[in-house]
Amino acid sequence: MNGLQDKIAVVTGASRGIGRGIAQRLAAEGVTVIINYHHSAEAAAEVVAEIEAAGGQAVAMQADVSQFAEAQALIKQVKKQFGRIDILVNNAGTTRDNLILLMKEAEWDTVIETNLKSVYNCSKAAVRFMIKQRSGRIINITSVVGLSGQAGQTNYAASKAGIIGFTKSLAKEVGSRHVTVNAIAPGFVLTALTEVLPEEMQAQIIAATPLGRMGNAEDIAGTVAFLASDDASFITGQVISVDGGLVMQ
Ligand code: NAP
Repeated sequence: MNGLQDKIAVVTGASRGIGRGIAQRLAAEGVTVIINYHHSAEAAAEVVAEIEAAGGQAVAMQADVSQFAEAQALIKQVKKQFGRIDILVNNAGTTRDNLILLMKEAEWDTVIETNLKSVYNCSKAAVRFMIKQRSGRIINITSVVGLSGQAGQTNYAASKAGIIGFTKSLAKEVGSRHVTVNAIAPGFVLTALTEVLPEEMQAQIIAATPLGRMGNAEDIAGTVAFLASDDASFITGQVISVDGGLVMQ
């Protein structure tokens, strides 16, 4: 028993990629999962169907989590429909890579709002209920780029480093209420976000990864399931790299 059975989880950006893998893993552990998406209604419905076919429970809910009011409405709807919210996985994210001299203001703003402001938006709404419940798990998906930096990604790295500061600060605020807040820093995982990288660059990243392969969504999902479980009840404010050893602190 890992304490996950019958828990209620929201996974933002769960219509594909890492979020989809996280949703499937949590559902396999007996968690009822809210599959949040922004544009991809069809893909989100497919994730729900896959989970149900495997005997799990899931519902899709649309919300642009970069928007304060939409994120608040999403979390309120979950509370209304399910009576509680046990796990929030802030996974939704995007990139608009560019060198600083070429980076448009809109590219900066979109990445900061989608990756970082969304974490504030959803956590602020969820933590209110978690504090009242005297239990909760918030798991933020940052990136090794937030630890090490990356040319062409000042916006993305700033958003991901921001998530790390947010994670540690919120962990200190809500620890006394038995709410834990942790972050996972994935290395290179092949998804829609990374498949656009030139093959040469993908090969370079794999070559620099001691475990010699790219990650997959299941690698990240396993660590989410651990952090959400009873086994992780004394872990908070931590950043766990799941990157095949790419970045060692
Ligand atoms: P992905 O395949 O591009 O999927 C992104 C997901 O986020 C989609 O489900 C998308 O939904 C959703 N999303 C984007 N903007 C949203 C918004 N405003 N509101 C709600 N949902 C939104 O990306 P991924 O590679 O799985 O990445 C997932 C997370 O892991 C991101 O935070 C990313 O930064 C992080 N990460 C990824 C890697 C990697 O190598 N892939 C490495 C380190 C960290 P719609 O399609 O409906 O818009």
